[in-house]
Amino acid sequence: MKQLKREIIKFAKKLNITGLSALRSGNISVRYKKGFLITPSGVKYSSLEIKDIIFVGLDGKFSKNKNKPSSEWRFHQDIYINKKDANAIVHAHSTNATAISVHKKGIPAFHYMVALAGGNDIRCAKYATFGTRNLSKNILQALSGRKACLIANHGQIAFEDNLPKAFELAEEVENISLQYITSLKLGKPKILSIKEMRTVLSKAKNYKRG
Ligand code: 13P
Ligand code: ZN
Repeated sequence: MKQLKREIIKFAKKLNITGLSALRSGNISVRYKKGFLITPSGVKYSSLEIKDIIFVGLDGKFSKNKNKPSSEWRFHQDIYINKKDANAIVHAHSTNATAISVHKKGIPAFHYMVALAGGNDIRCAKYATFGTRNLSKNILQALSGRKACLIANHGQIAFEDNLPKAFELAEEVENISLQYITSLKLGKPKILSIKEMRTVLSKAKNYKRG
């Protein structure tokens, strides 16, 4: 458990270092036993210590410590309950993904790499107040058949079967967002067909990354 907590802290600091999520924004969790370990609410990542990482059961129970779990523990809980292949979750307020999300728009197949999120687009979850069960419901809807989505007027979220992969997917979503915004400056981008995206998605299944 200590090792997992160490890994969470390493990647929480990386949120700041890579510019993926500034200051205290965003949160990270890893599935553990019948629940998950998650970053605390409102604590600067640079000052995180092992004791700050909190266990939350899949039943939503956690011990009353000095630190509370991330205010978004509900959507982490619901993703672990509903997505058996989710072992780690990264939520970030990355600049470009957030910039698209405030238009309440997802990202279409303007580039084949949107397939990394699991389908032929990256959806945007409907807006709801942070930390609410409603937000969690909206996120689950947008994640249907996907491993990442934008969150309206908020940011993005990505899950994977381990933390390095979840972090990398969140970074990919941010890169794709920047490319999409840039392409829009030249007019309306040409979107790939559903047929082509089907081909990409089946090729992507065999695309092993080191
Ligand atoms: P927490 O510090 O409570 O995790 O909040 C950060 C955040 O991104 C809320 O959406
Ligand atoms: Zn957030």
